[in-house]
Amino acid sequence: MLVIGLTGGIGSGKSTVSNIFTEFGVPIIDADIVARQVVQPGTNCLQQIAQHFGNTILLENGDLDRKALRKIIFNDENEKKWLEALMHPVIRQEIKHQLGSQSADYCILSSPLLIETHQQELTHRILVVDVDEKTQIDRTSNRDSVPREHVKAIQASQLSRKERLSYANDLIDNSVSLQETHAQVERLHQKYLSLSAEYDSTKQR
Ligand code: ADP
Repeated sequence: MLVIGLTGGIGSGKSTVSNIFTEFGVPIIDADIVARQVVQPGTNCLQQIAQHFGNTILLENGDLDRKALRKIIFNDENEKKWLEALMHPVIRQEIKHQLGSQSADYCILSSPLLIETHQQELTHRILVVDVDEKTQIDRTSNRDSVPREHVKAIQASQLSRKERLSYANDLIDNSVSLQETHAQVERLHQKYLSLSAEYDSTKQR
């Protein structure tokens, strides 16, 4: 099955665009959701995290204290590397598993760090949702009620706009109205349906 990797910086509009694809019946695998699934209570990953950071990293109900963990890795590059080395292969495996169980014409893997974590290797094309940096900051700080500096720090940990765009096979300019973005998604949906038909016929040959 044809897999489209959907990416973009924080606040660029990935969730907005994913929701529109969902309206067209396209299955979405969201790497952020997978990242939460693999640390559910009872998972090997959560066990290793608790062993490494101590049980104080768990909430009373046994869930991972994501806020506490974010704080640790934000301030300690080595701990961040340790966590990434543990999580990335597990997330990748789970994404592969979920991709394997899809039966639609094509599906979308939505990931803010698609390129940074090499998840694009699991996809056939890269679709970048693009807005300028100021719009990213405006929209995210509005959405999450967080200071602009906070958004800038996350932005700095992601690929630059220019570099991300250099990977794009397809592009959605989301600096426009939601209605116009909807129309862009609809055009891409038609394109992906034709590409998926071509993809399937070459596979059958
Ligand atoms: P991401 O998932 O990439 O972080 P979101 O889809 O959550 O980004 O979009 C960030 C914010 O911007 C949200 O509050 C969303 O409603 C808003 N937004 C997205 N696209 C548009 C648009 N075309 N016009 C106005 N606001 C938008």
